[in-house]
Amino acid sequence: MSHVSDGDLEAWDYYEEVYKNRSMGLNEYQSAAARTAIYKQEHSILYPALGLAGEAGEVANKVKKMLRDGELDRKALVAEVGDCLWYISSLCRDLNVDMQDLAMDNLEKLYGRKARGTIKGNGDKR
Ligand SMILES: [Mg+2]
Repeated sequence: MSHVSDGDLEAWDYYEEVYKNRSMGLNEYQSAAARTAIYKQEHSILYPALGLAGEAGEVANKVKKMLRDGELDRKALVAEVGDCLWYISSLCRDLNVDMQDLAMDNLEKLYGRKARGTIKGNGDKR
């Protein structure tokens, strides 16, 4: 008996189509990633926020091990950064925000700070 549903097969076909192109924008990534989300609607925002915190911890742990062992497992660290991206994407979806808009708004904020000479310092409203 197979555990693979028609939805899984559709998702796989979609993945193969996207993967073939090996090129996508943030919004396409967000749509593709959403097809792999399995958490309950009632856990929206909370689930990806906690997941992001967990994955950020995994990133920190890989870097900690670099300090301990004197070498970086770059591949493992990059994979954890990818896991963070998935949770950021899911969080954006739950907040009804396009990742493309989020990225552009973030750059606008940072370049605004750079232009005002306030990129260093503290506070959200610089
Ligand atoms: Mg991970």
